[in-house]
Amino acid sequence: MISLAQTGNVLYTYVFAMVKTSKIKGNIVILSGPSGVGKGTIINGVLKKIASMRVAISATTRQPRREEANRKNYYFMSDYEFDEKIESDSFVEWCNVLNKRYGTLKSEIEDTINEGKDIILEIDTQGAQKIKAKMPDSILVFIAPPTMKDLEARLINRQTEQEIDIKNRLDKAKLEISEIDKYDFVVVNKEINKAIDSIVKILTKSCKEH
Ligand code: 5GP
Repeated sequence: MISLAQTGNVLYTYVFAMVKTSKIKGNIVILSGPSGVGKGTIINGVLKKIASMRVAISATTRQPRREEANRKNYYFMSDYEFDEKIESDSFVEWCNVLNKRYGTLKSEIEDTINEGKDIILEIDTQGAQKIKAKMPDSILVFIAPPTMKDLEARLINRQTEQEIDIKNRLDKAKLEISEIDKYDFVVVNKEINKAIDSIVKILTKSCKEH
């Protein structure tokens, strides 16, 4: 027979479990698009308009660019550090992109979505499919350039890549654009403020309330 005090404990545990399990998780928003299409600027614009939105910082083995800082733009890692993260099963996904490795750390997203907050992952098309397979409710948005010529001009103008890297990024862009039909939404970045507004509208409609 269980005592009244024990009944209280059982009830407390039951109610606590209900509260825990009924907590709604935050939405995962995946933003992909060719290098140079303006994802970074768009994300900054979206963050200004949706204050509750967070962004995951990815890990990468590529070198930082002049204006980039560790833990702000990326967790810049050596190959050894990246291997360690793979071995400790710390990534929700990771991929080879342009001969370097990029990955989303579980720690970057778990706490945020468990607190019911929404998070943007800015990742490539392979990573997007891996996340979609694990978390089918993720919202996939692709940002496309108006034309390939336009993308090429943007990559040249930003002066962050050498000629060979620009060519590789344009080749990858063609591959990525061929995967556009795997995305829930496509936004063409012809005019930056319009692109930001379109994405804010999409997210306001598609993110589940919590
Ligand atoms: P960049 O070198 O221009 O910063 O990024 C190159 C590509 O890597 C972009 O297409 C970007 O979306 C992708 N990328 C950045 N972080 C991640 C990540 O965590 N996982 C995957 N799969 N791709 C990423």
